[in-house]
Amino acid sequence: MGQSVAGPEIERLIQLLARLPGLGPRSARRAALHLIRKREQLLGPLAEAMRVAEERVRTCTTCGNVDTSDPCTICADARRDASTLVVVESVGDLWALERADATRGRYHVLGGALSPLDGVGPEELNLRTLVDRVAGGGIREVVLAVNATVDGQTTAHYITESLAPHGVKITRLAHGVPVGGELDFLDDGTLTAAMRQRTAF
Ligand SMILES: [Zn+2]
Repeated sequence: MGQSVAGPEIERLIQLLARLPGLGPRSARRAALHLIRKREQLLGPLAEAMRVAEERVRTCTTCGNVDTSDPCTICADARRDASTLVVVESVGDLWALERADATRGRYHVLGGALSPLDGVGPEELNLRTLVDRVAGGGIREVVLAVNATVDGQTTAHYITESLAPHGVKITRLAHGVPVGGELDFLDDGTLTAAMRQRTAF
């Protein structure tokens, strides 16, 4: 650890910023300095936006998405196709599909992927509610939009077996998704094509 160049309040700000994805200690210092310089235009409004988000953000009890309302904006939108359920690992993947305008269906967010090595079993994921939703009826197709990783594919197989008794059509994204690929890092065109050319699982 180097010598502190600022008081503990600023050091604390830098330490917290350094925990953000994509920000190392060096860029956290730059960001902190920028915020402090733009105290009125940026630091104040950002602090307020974070306070409000912290207070209002909740997890949708229907789909597992995060939003400021429960049910979330997507679940509450009557124009969305309720017969198509797109299963994703994370909210980041949901955002990626929405950004690409890849589907008009609804979502189910698992909160991760099955990973026996990392001790992530079915109970750790939002899987029971998925089976409950399908069992509740009205869903014709379940699209497995999971990552093309080993864990993602393990999860896809598990879901396929869990949903088998319910006679729902199960599809997965086409192989425009590179093996090992994570949805959040794909460009919009690839993502839209993969959704359009999805195949029976
Ligand atoms: Zn929802």
